Amino acid sequence: MNAPVLIAGAGPVGVLTALLLARKGIPVRVFEAAAAVDDSPRASTLHPATLEMLADAGLLDAVIERGLVARTFQFWDRTTHQLVAEFDHAILAQDTAYPFVVQCEQHKIANLCLERLKAFPHAEVSFKTPVSGLEQDDAGVAVTLENGTVVRGSYLVGADGGRSTVRKTLGIDFEGYTFPERFLVLTVPFDFAGEHGVAHRAYFSDPDEWANLFKVAGDDGKGRWRAVFPAPPGQSDEEVLSAAATEARLQKFFPKRGAYEVFHRNIYRVHQRVAKHFRVGRVLLAGDSAHVNNPIGGLGLNCGIHDATDLAGKLALALDGPTGAAILDRYEAVRRPMNIEYVQQQTIANKKRLEEKDPAQRAKNFDNLRQMAADPAKHRAFLMRTSLLESVRKIAANAA
Ligand SMILES: Cc1cc2nc3c(=O)[nH]c(=O)nc-3n(C[C@H](O)[C@H](O)[C@H](O)COP(=O)(O)OP(=O)(O)OC[C@H]3O[C@@H](n4cnc5c(N)ncnc54)[C@H](O)[C@@H]3O)c2cc1C
Repeated sequence: MNAPVLIAGAGPVGVLTALLLARKGIPVRVFEAAAAVDDSPRASTLHPATLEMLADAGLLDAVIERGLVARTFQFWDRTTHQLVAEFDHAILAQDTAYPFVVQCEQHKIANLCLERLKAFPHAEVSFKTPVSGLEQDDAGVAVTLENGTVVRGSYLVGADGGRSTVRKTLGIDFEGYTFPERFLVLTVPFDFAGEHGVAHRAYFSDPDEWANLFKVAGDDGKGRWRAVFPAPPGQSDEEVLSAAATEARLQKFFPKRGAYEVFHRNIYRVHQRVAKHFRVGRVLLAGDSAHVNNPIGGLGLNCGIHDATDLAGKLALALDGPTGAAILDRYEAVRRPMNIEYVQQQTIANKKRLEEKDPAQRAKNFDNLRQMAADPAKHRAFLMRTSLLESVRKIAANAA
């Protein structure tokens, strides 16, 4: 049996990569710095292209069971509380077996993969075990753990998130920028669908304060909403997160009688960055360690799941024969430009559209959205791109 593939990070990308490799009979060892999977409110939207991959991995039914199916999403003008346009994934019925998105919190996906990994005796996951260093030669990689232990493996996957130790140890540039504003996420039980007709995923344009709303199932399955706002520089995290400030923000968004109940208040720094390289020898980056983006459009984890799927397939081929290195070169050659073209470009454009200040440009944006929603060919083309199906079909066509 080969030496194990080592994986730094038990976030959703690390554990999915481990599961996909384990299912192919490849031994894996996952090292996670934290004591448990991080359950803070981050990714929830899984697009059709990603659902296809989760179905192939045997995970889709369980993901749907733990999440919410959302066929439509909306754009609103926050200043007038008017719905601008609604898009319906049903138009993709000829393009995919899954013409909808599933809103499933990322910690549920990670925990599901960890549960499934238990069935494989050749898969081992260690929590509270940070990776602190690495060395490699032609024969393999040697990872140093913070406790001083050195573990040898055939390859190392750096799935250790945006602040990746693996990426930094390799000295790989993380090219891009960080936004001056932070993103505030408030989790509330208020029913925006019942009260205001908001779809499970909705984007609100506003020259002063854009917003996003997403419905998720919650751990109890009762349903809750995540409201996302920009938090401009000038206020401390504590000020932004204070009960008075969050109540004022929610009341300004959708005024209501009585105070909003708030389950969680979270604040994130947001970046647009892509690693200069996704591979150095026997070490490969996947997920947020390779690329980060703003969450408008819900694309970051989706792209990470696509990385995991692509990488697991290529590692299996590389371990199987002498042409391994050439196969792994294709990983960076395919995944890096895909991230730039489909994830970086779309998320930057999505943010720009929501925060547009020029009235004429705002009106133009709204007209454009209305026209796309009204024209079936444009509606389909827009969703092919936003759902990442276009990127996946393009990769498949180029590989054929
Ligand atoms: C507010 C918000 C909303 C988002 N919404 C969406 C969405 O709707 N759809 C979407 O697709 N994406 C979304 N994203 C992005 C998504 O959360 C990330 O892309 C996703 O978490 C990436 O998963 P990952 O496994 O690569 O990294 P992470 O989830 O960051 O996991 C990395 C893991 O590595 C561990 N680690 C770190 N250093 C070490 C070390 N030295 N050794 C061992 N382990 C280590 C960490 O503890 C962590 O568990 C959102 C992000 C934010 C902030």
